[in-house]
Amino acid sequence: MYPDLKGKTVIITGAATGIGKACALRFGQEQANVVINFHSDKQVKETEEMIKEIKNSGGNAIAVQGDVTKEGDIKQLIEKTISEFGSLDIMINNAGIENEVPSHELTLDDWNKVISTNLTGQFLGCREAIDYFLEHDIQGAVINMSSVHEIIPWPHFVHYAASKGGIKLMTQTLALEYAPKRIRINSIAPGAINTPINAEKFSDPKQKEGVLKLIPMGYIGEPEEIAATAVWLASNQASYVTGLTLIADGGMTLYPGFQAGKG
Ligand code: NAD
Repeated sequence: MYPDLKGKTVIITGAATGIGKACALRFGQEQANVVINFHSDKQVKETEEMIKEIKNSGGNAIAVQGDVTKEGDIKQLIEKTISEFGSLDIMINNAGIENEVPSHELTLDDWNKVISTNLTGQFLGCREAIDYFLEHDIQGAVINMSSVHEIIPWPHFVHYAASKGGIKLMTQTLALEYAPKRIRINSIAPGAINTPINAEKFSDPKQKEGVLKLIPMGYIGEPEEIAATAVWLASNQASYVTGLTLIADGGMTLYPGFQAGKG
């Protein structure tokens, strides 16, 4: 637990499912004020349940619908946060999408959708949060949800890999730019995590087996294991950490083919 997170206000985008949801619940356990951004009308019920759970654990929460690709929605997300909780301390740009297509068949529409959600959406979240921190002299923290695919090339997912590669240098550039203001900007690179984005892939035993072979620790990660890295990065325990990609991947980026000298 991180006592300094108590009473802090955190926005998490794409927080009705998966890693974002686990982060929201964990910040709730830390007794923070949690703003759950969600995208689809179908997620309203889920966010209502989450608000109850967060309040039961001693935190506070609201849900705000919005599309991270829309500048106006991100501005409104910040405005609603301030009007409800009076401030903003931590911004977690988590919303992301992917779809599998051989690159020579990838439409411009699909390319644009992934880039605008995963990269432009995260940029807008960074920009608006940093602008607020500067205006109010807040030494805030930003966390961007990247992926091991900011390092590992991924055939059939060129738009996804390009978006995550973009997040790496966006995070480092912003970290350098705002370090003098003590605004910390970091990212997290999860490996294969058990969330809806992977539901189809992991429901096929053959595909799941294939993924497991790439993970030296031998299991698919749980979203709570990523949330645990997010609360640390947001807390004062990480006060001197900026521009970092924190990799949480069970060893996936350690060249698993070389395990036991078999490479
Ligand atoms: P997920 O599908 O459960 O979560 C993604 C969330 O983003 C969903 O709730 C979705 O509604 C929301 N979203 C999509 N488009 C949006 C938009 N335009 N505006 C607002 N919200 C939008 O999957 P997840 O695994 O929890 O993914 C969360 C993040 O973690 C993503 O950025 C993903 O790339 C990253 N990630 C996931 C894994 C993994 O294995 N699960 C690995 C590496 C990185």
